[in-house]
Amino acid sequence: MACIFCQIIERTIPADVVHEDDDLIVFKDINPKGAIHVLLVPKTHIATVNDLEIHHIPVMGHMFEVVQQLAATWDIVEQGYRLTVNVGRGGGQEVDHIHMHMVSGWMRRP
Ligand code: 5GP
Ligand code: ZN
Repeated sequence: MACIFCQIIERTIPADVVHEDDDLIVFKDINPKGAIHVLLVPKTHIATVNDLEIHHIPVMGHMFEVVQQLAATWDIVEQGYRLTVNVGRGGGQEVDHIHMHMVSGWMRRP
């Protein structure tokens, strides 16, 4: 399996996992851009937003439920945080397994 995020999901390479359930894994980014920087990753290998299909809607919606839970846990609801999904090389996507970045403690504007 060449996909690095699939390998993290399968625990063949290590990651600092902060949440896991049947459909989703969340782990700390290896190169954090903020005090908090995690990646929310569906366990199903979907390459990019361009590859989303109707049956992926529940897991993508669930991603936002987990974002809310983590924001409450880390007490950053009021402070705020950034969610980013890069799409394709031109959009800054380096890992071809769909994921959402959740970053806090980084005030730089896009
Ligand atoms: P992208 O540019 O594809 O939106 O984001 C990929 C992210 O994955 C980058 O922020 C990068 O630091 C992170 N990343 C790449 N390889 C690994 C890894 O092996 N472990 C972890 N925890 N993060 C990784
Ligand atoms: Zn994958």
